[in-house]
Amino acid sequence: MPSPATPIPAADLQAETTDLLQRLIRCNTVNPPGAERSAQELLKGYLEDAGLSCELLGAEPDRPNLLGRLPGLEPGPRLCLLSHVDTVLAAAADWSHDPWSGDLAEGFVWGRGALDMKSQTAAEAVGAATLARSGWRPPRGELLLVAVADEETGGELGAQWLTREHPDKVRCDYLVNEGAGEVIPYRDRRLYGVCCAEKGIFRFTLTTSGVAGHASIPGTGDNALVKLAPLIERLGRTRAGFDLAAEPRAFLRALGESDDDPQGALARMRDVDPKLAILLEPMLGVSFVPTKVVASEKINVIPSRAQVQVDCRVPPGMGEREARTRLEELLGPEGSDSYQIEFSERVPGNASAMKSELMNAIGAWVAEQDPGAEIVPTILPGFSDSSHFRAAFPDCVAYGFFPQRHMTLQQAAPLVHAADERIDVRDLGFAASFFAELPRRLLG
Ligand SMILES: [Zn+2]
Repeated sequence: MPSPATPIPAADLQAETTDLLQRLIRCNTVNPPGAERSAQELLKGYLEDAGLSCELLGAEPDRPNLLGRLPGLEPGPRLCLLSHVDTVLAAAADWSHDPWSGDLAEGFVWGRGALDMKSQTAAEAVGAATLARSGWRPPRGELLLVAVADEETGGELGAQWLTREHPDKVRCDYLVNEGAGEVIPYRDRRLYGVCCAEKGIFRFTLTTSGVAGHASIPGTGDNALVKLAPLIERLGRTRAGFDLAAEPRAFLRALGESDDDPQGALARMRDVDPKLAILLEPMLGVSFVPTKVVASEKINVIPSRAQVQVDCRVPPGMGEREARTRLEELLGPEGSDSYQIEFSERVPGNASAMKSELMNAIGAWVAEQDPGAEIVPTILPGFSDSSHFRAAFPDCVAYGFFPQRHMTLQQAAPLVHAADERIDVRDLGFAASFFAELPRRLLG
């Protein structure tokens, strides 16, 4: 039986994790429609063979969620390893390997889901299965493995449904999910992000008003679309001031930067690595992206009203007030003769405490596996299923962490939801060794 003093080497788990990932990629789970059952049946068989007790639970027959458990000997905390098995679509013509081939070539597994996130599903399953086959059972608490359906369209049939319909089965004290973990080389440092929070979504419609008229005589009207254009330009090209939540403050300090000077920190980050700066900048404040425009319905009518929809993301702990403040900073005050806004979505961000036993366990593992490397808190600009667990179980400490040391954040991030998504097979073994070790540290 392995003990915490003898970690399972990554190399021992690489082949098994690679094989499981290849088989998961070959189950086409593009959502919509999802059709996750084949992937879930595959995982269920794999985990049951190893000794976990499993069940499939779902709102629709073809779209079940999988729960696998390894109960402990004494009461204690429950650790949940979470992932989703659905993926976004893929345009095969743009790929150098078929997106559902799971090809192993040039040291990578290729396919849709290789990063987001069947790789983590496979690594979590291999970690849990390795422990179960060795005869290990949690001395206290419980190890729970949850693979959900339907994350890519919001989680209605997956994490939302499970936490609402079966809270007792999935309530957990610690949760590890997607969101961070690729190594971030920075000057001479090696930083592993641990995602502790997610930004909120405060989408709105911005309207300008004018006077309708016949388009054959330009002077007859007051064109609302022409008034809107410079506002779109400013929203798209100017960045608002910074609003730093606690996690990015800690992140900047870990980079050796002052959290009182985010402007300077961002400039230096751009000097060191412009691609990294693009990925990290959204952590530092409110963002506005204009995405949809509507004006006249007729080509020969000067529009009296023009509207742009804006996807606005707000740091955790902040909300509409900060969004409005930053908007007015860019566009001047709202008013009937300038512009008016109406929010269509107000979903605050969410967060887990940065200090916890889970954070300590992740930090200790990273320090052992990659000497000199450090962990740093990050926030996700988008959302993940962690938000549903944090909402349902306020005491749950949920982090995004899937360790990768061979592929950096800069290499991996552009491949997510893109063509030629792939993962370095050495990182599959590396991550699986983490998931085989974490339960022994937290539930021991
Ligand atoms: Zn994902």
